[in-house]
Amino acid sequence: MSDDFLREPVRYLKGVGEKRADVWAEAHGVRTVRDLLHFYPRRYLDRSTVSMVRDLKESTESVTVVGTVRTKGVVPGRNKKRFELIFEDPRGDTMKAVWFQGVWWIRKAFENGERVAFHGKVQKYGRWFSMTHPDFDKLDADAAALDTGRIVALYPGGQAMDKVGLTSRAVRRVVYDLFKEHGLKLQESFPDWITERFGLMEGRVALRAIHFPKDQQELARAKQRLKFEEFFYIQLLLALTREERQEFAGPRFDNPGDYTRQFVREVLPFELTGAQKRALRDVIDDTQTGLQMNRLVQGDVGSGKTVVAVAAMMHALDNGFQSAFMAPTEILAEQHYANLQKYLDPLGVETQLLIGSQTKTEREAALEAIASGRAPVAVGTHALIQEGVTFEDLGMAIVDEQHRFGVAQRAEIFSKGRNPHMLLMTATPIPRSLAMTLYGDLDVSVIDEMPPGRKPVETRLRTEKRRGEMYAFLRDKLEQSQQAYVVYPLVEESEKVDLKDAVSGYEKLQAQFEDFTVDIVHGQMKSDDKDAAMARFKAGETDILVSTTVIEVGVDVPNATVMIIEHAERFGLSQLHQLRGRVGRSDVQSYCILMASYKQSAEAKERLQAMVRTTDGFEISEVDLQIRGAGDFFGTRQSGMPDLKIADVTEDEAILEEAREAAFALVERDPDLQDPKHQLLRDHFERYYAKRKLGFARVG
Ligand code: ADP
Ligand code: MG
Repeated sequence: MSDDFLREPVRYLKGVGEKRADVWAEAHGVRTVRDLLHFYPRRYLDRSTVSMVRDLKESTESVTVVGTVRTKGVVPGRNKKRFELIFEDPRGDTMKAVWFQGVWWIRKAFENGERVAFHGKVQKYGRWFSMTHPDFDKLDADAAALDTGRIVALYPGGQAMDKVGLTSRAVRRVVYDLFKEHGLKLQESFPDWITERFGLMEGRVALRAIHFPKDQQELARAKQRLKFEEFFYIQLLLALTREERQEFAGPRFDNPGDYTRQFVREVLPFELTGAQKRALRDVIDDTQTGLQMNRLVQGDVGSGKTVVAVAAMMHALDNGFQSAFMAPTEILAEQHYANLQKYLDPLGVETQLLIGSQTKTEREAALEAIASGRAPVAVGTHALIQEGVTFEDLGMAIVDEQHRFGVAQRAEIFSKGRNPHMLLMTATPIPRSLAMTLYGDLDVSVIDEMPPGRKPVETRLRTEKRRGEMYAFLRDKLEQSQQAYVVYPLVEESEKVDLKDAVSGYEKLQAQFEDFTVDIVHGQMKSDDKDAAMARFKAGETDILVSTTVIEVGVDVPNATVMIIEHAERFGLSQLHQLRGRVGRSDVQSYCILMASYKQSAEAKERLQAMVRTTDGFEISEVDLQIRGAGDFFGTRQSGMPDLKIADVTEDEAILEEAREAAFALVERDPDLQDPKHQLLRDHFERYYAKRKLGFARVG
């Protein structure tokens, strides 16, 4: 291959060397020439995007101002010292940059007379325009380039990079030399029909232009091409996975069967909602084709996914197969176990529980029942996928709250049977763009209807000074024999402090509500004690249950109608929504009270306001995605969310759709990528995308 040079280490490039290469790899993962080409600038400066102080307005948009540092110093404030710097723009107007945090470090970062580009939101205090904690780039000789009217690329940096002299300027130099030497060797990996149909700039041109754009127009086209490419290969993986599965046999369940019918018609005390029926229909249809099912059931908290899963397991049993039902926590697994016993004992179907905290005897009995096939249904945590767990004939694997599991764990449950059907469940409604990226190869059923009679939860935001009022409200509900949750945050780093917080909250509540029963569950309790506390709450013996977020997922106590969330500003939006989903599970009006401190970050404010505004999980997830950005939405590693360098699922949805169209069209034309026109693309795909992922891809 003529593009072997792409794999050469950067340390041998002119101007790099060992020390810089180490820092570069450590700080930004840049190891090879290819990494370097894809080490994209994080910002560009040019005359059209740099503002002058006299043109500034207060606004929520970030702007860039370039200026020379004039004076600087630490200023004593009312509460806290701050660092202030005054700089002068090329027209002689001055403004301030201010830091409240990291004062001791930042005060050493600037010299008078330096030219610096400051990026941030502008506020006006008195006669001064000011930026607080601006992002900044020191321009040194870059300023000259800017003066000549070029567009100047600024690269991701950091203290370590600065220390070894890998400034933006040095990076530009290395990239420039690289292009001079190798630029012409870069080959176009897309066939003409793709570049033409989607109007893409040639790959080589785009890579050059992303580092050294001639003008904004060229830069825009370069970005479009590179974003398209990033999305394209991910979508190609999904398209091929799906294609491969078309040939993938699964057990054929064509017996409609009595267990399913009896469960739905006789055991369930209610009728399935239309959406539940559709989801079950989808499962039955999928499992009749002879192909292996991979279906995601997406439904908001409380929409009744469990019942669909149970019916799917009965369908497997009607066809002589076992099922496994995997949940992310012990509490949840045990709750499912209790429900399954309630539903399945009347049908004479044995259910076995498998969790880490069982005794050896219990565990061995369960293992035996599962291995011999006597128990058609196994429910549990990760304990289900451990070595030593064998099924007689696993035909249906259900993964509850699937986003809490990694790809590998889903692959493991899959490997416990011979191509069992997979039913993945998630209560996190995800925006379309993200669904295309994460689940683009799965079939999806959406449960978009709540069981009848539910009233949307009323959500209120309260600060400390209304605590008395909140207690009065709570008392009123308790007197009507309803129950309440009071949830405290638990952050791992400050586990001890948080726990103390929850415990003292519990003690206060006990004092306040002497005539009621108050109980507590938290992560440090032994699992037996936790379970006992949960069970007492479920049975109605406890009125108020104080907890850290161990009750987050799935817990179902219909008589609980009040959810009080302490320090609500510290929770993520999806988490708040999940917690709120613990109430509103009956036809009685439920309430969610968010107790928040006065001081809230802008993001926290957005989250809390979204909670008050809507109970629609879908809308919540859109807001959450916008606030957090895609990488963080589920946690990149957990979810198999690809690491996007330039594209952004929220902002570039249109490009994503095109890339998806291209990838699926390609696989349709040439399912094995055998056409010589697709040779380069195939090589590229196999080298950089397929290897890491293909093995697991089939289980989504
Ligand atoms: P989730 O989708 O959050 O997992 P669950 O499966 O826990 O929801 O169901 C929530 C509650 O709704 C449970 O108490 C369940 O018994 C009840 N439920 C489920 N389906 C229906 C229905 N069709 N009609 C009435 N209640 C239902
Ligand atoms: Mg559930």
